[in-house]
Amino acid sequence: MDREALMAQKKRIVVKIGSSTLTHPETGDMDLVKMERLVRILTDISNSGKDVVLVSSGAIAVGRKTMKISERPRKKSVKQACAAIGQTRLMMVYQRLFAEYNKIPAQILMTKLTMIHDENRRNARATFSELLEMGVIPIVNENDTVVTDEIEFGDNDTLSAIVAALIHADLLVLLSDIDGLYDDDPRTNPDAKFIEEIDYITDELESMAKGAGSDVGTGGMATKIAAARIANDAGADMVICNGGDIKNLRHVIEGRNVGTIFRAHKNENFHLINYLTGNKEK
Ligand code: GLU
Repeated sequence: MDREALMAQKKRIVVKIGSSTLTHPETGDMDLVKMERLVRILTDISNSGKDVVLVSSGAIAVGRKTMKISERPRKKSVKQACAAIGQTRLMMVYQRLFAEYNKIPAQILMTKLTMIHDENRRNARATFSELLEMGVIPIVNENDTVVTDEIEFGDNDTLSAIVAALIHADLLVLLSDIDGLYDDDPRTNPDAKFIEEIDYITDELESMAKGAGSDVGTGGMATKIAAARIANDAGADMVICNGGDIKNLRHVIEGRNVGTIFRAHKNENFHLINYLTGNKEK
């Protein structure tokens, strides 16, 4: 099926935006023009009758900027304090921007425990459903302020794939600072070839993807491939595209050939809870 026909069928979409895409690289401040465009496109997707969820990073980056902390904090409590400060600022801006278009956003902060605990997970799923039914746009982040090393997702690529699996989304779009997947690092190898489509994620592909990273977010290409594995197994297609130009999101939804698409192949043996707990038996 071509991309246009495929995308026309999509009903429930999770969009993830990374910290480096939300902020100006020169200063680390929020890029309001980009955020405004993102909000407009998300509202439009919702207005067209599709369910849409935003997974937004940026809490720590925005908190850092607010407190004028130039180095990436190493101390956990500083990082967690920055997240607490940045998350509210981020939501305040989203709330204002969505209000322009008469759209209501809602905040959902998750931890791995929320997902592992059966009742918490059921409640989270029911809340998402209720919000989407109400035409609200849930904005998700990890609850960075309270997580510990043992129970953190650590990066929002993984979190967004888990959210997609939880709510049975049929499409996950990662807005990144790169165009998609290359067969080598394009920053060091000018001959690196762009890959438009991946049908199956092989071990070779996984090892090829290691390496690409950025200063403000935590996700490199390896976390994106891991996210694709979860999303594809759960039955969602995943597209990585460059969020530097937010229009790419609209182009993906319209079915244009932008970014790299990882095709869904629902794995009946995939159970979110087993993935999270590492239990292969259950
Ligand atoms: N949850 C982190 C934040 O909001 C971002 C994690 C990531 O960059 O993937 O700052």
